[in-house]
Amino acid sequence: MTCREFADFMLDYLSDELSAESRAAFEYHLSLCTNCRHYLASYRETVKLGKRAFEDDDANVPSEVPEELVKAILAARPRR
Ligand SMILES: [Zn+2]
Repeated sequence: MTCREFADFMLDYLSDELSAESRAAFEYHLSLCTNCRHYLASYRETVKLGKRAFEDDDANVPSEVPEELVKAILAARPRR
């Protein structure tokens, strides 16, 4: 698995939709690649912040989160 494929698989991984095989490949790459570990960790953190912002419209998102990323997550949230 390449880093590029890793990024493609990440959403499915986080929503638990990977097959056992893909998941094993994903986790194997994760164990080898520091970059992707950091990437996954910061992605998770951002999703958490995005969810908080979704639950509370007045929530303050720390300024170190890239605004572009926050916007993308807010744009992807389910519509009511
Ligand atoms: Zn990687």
